[in-house]
Amino acid sequence: MLFKEFMNAHTIFVDLDDTLVKSMPLEYFRSKNSQNANGKIFDWNNTKQITFLRPYAKELINHCKKLADTCIFTHGHNHFQKEVISVLNLPIKCLYGREDYHKVPKTRNAILIDDDPQIASQKLKAIGTEKLILVKPWNFEDLDDTELLDLIKKI
Ligand SMILES: [Mg+2]
Repeated sequence: MLFKEFMNAHTIFVDLDDTLVKSMPLEYFRSKNSQNANGKIFDWNNTKQITFLRPYAKELINHCKKLADTCIFTHGHNHFQKEVISVLNLPIKCLYGREDYHKVPKTRNAILIDDDPQIASQKLKAIGTEKLILVKPWNFEDLDDTELLDLIKKI
């Protein structure tokens, strides 16, 4: 079922925050005493931010790119998320941020992968499709998370 949906998709939109990555102010991260030492730090508006790559995030993007045009569709700000994509070296250039909802190409043959049902419903309206693959949001502490690997295996 899932595989067929993906085979017919012209475009696959993938959410960023909590789906592929987790970003936060460095100060907040330090207050958490986390064991995750894989974060990438970057400067943003005179603050330091840290961002983490979810296990199998790059693999999912590369897998989707083999099946259809693949774009990030995030509710975060375009410029900030561009920086996240760059510091984590995510293999994708196409990006729509919260200021780009009106620019998203309308296509019924699209699929959205997202962790947040409420934000996803806004994105689906912008895209003009109802096809949503909901994934569990990622807690950046969970280094053994296999949610994206499980999805790759299904598609
Ligand atoms: Mg999200």
